[in-house]
Amino acid sequence: MKTVRLPSGETIPALGLGTWMMAEKASRRADEIAALRAGVDLGLTLIDTAEMYGGGEAETLVGEAVAGRRDEVFLVSKVLPSNATASGTVRACEASLRRLGTDRLDLYLLHWRGSLPLARTLEGFAALVEAGKIRHWGVSNFDLADMRELTALDGSCQTNQILYNLSRRGPEYDLLPWHASAGMPIMAYSPVEQGRLLGSPVLAEVAARHDATPAQVALAWVLRLPHANAIPKAGTVDHVRENARAVELRLSPEDLADLDRAFPPPDGPEPLEMI
Ligand code: NAP
Repeated sequence: MKTVRLPSGETIPALGLGTWMMAEKASRRADEIAALRAGVDLGLTLIDTAEMYGGGEAETLVGEAVAGRRDEVFLVSKVLPSNATASGTVRACEASLRRLGTDRLDLYLLHWRGSLPLARTLEGFAALVEAGKIRHWGVSNFDLADMRELTALDGSCQTNQILYNLSRRGPEYDLLPWHASAGMPIMAYSPVEQGRLLGSPVLAEVAARHDATPAQVALAWVLRLPHANAIPKAGTVDHVRENARAVELRLSPEDLADLDRAFPPPDGPEPLEMI
């Protein structure tokens, strides 16, 4: 499995498993749990969830999926900005831990920047690290100015989880170069644009050259970067298996040029988008 190095020096799988929209329908539950377990079996041991997803139900589902094999996974969850005071961050994390059925998170992220002072959230993260309830912390949906402000306050942020895929290339102009020079990876969410990229004729054409699928091309495109994780959500074992094979796919210069023509890179700064 290709890995990505965090600023802490720890390496994590480049390809992980998203969980937004899981635990929304009882009829899908068994398939979703099977999908997560299959992913872990295939080495996709980075699992991303959040207190927001399904009002906590996605965390409960993840807890069920990893029960008995917690030590095999690198577990990421997120605190809502409305909870992200110093004490609120600690309380939110403790509730996430209970739902996940674990005593610690590997990485805890501020889901997006709200109106509360960042310094208070960082106090909460520090208290959680001190108590052994989180191993690392990071942020999500932070644009360049936010990252500069954050890293001036504290240098131990491990990642920035952002919307990044072929149809959302804005971060390439300034945010990704900043991350590369800081030695801090990004974690690309919605890497197949919630399925909307998969009907693209160009993706189909590139995929055909490699006996691959459009989803594999979209994921391999994100994973071409040495400092990027991708965390597709797949609710079936078949989709997880298909996605896992993206790590073996190497896109050629011709593939990349065709993809650039269909999905041009930014030619100036663009505000970070969110889904
Ligand atoms: P995504 O991963 O780009 O797309 C998920 C959709 O693509 C699902 O409908 C899934 O269908 C489908 N899909 C996945 N693999 C497929 C395949 N091989 N073939 C066909 N369809 C496939 O979008 P996302 O869920 O928005 O993003 C991924 C994860 O990032 C989330 O689950 C969440 O953990 C995280 N996220 C974070 C933020 C944030 O603000 N930090 C925001 C959004 C997402 P099936 O379910 O049927 O497999």
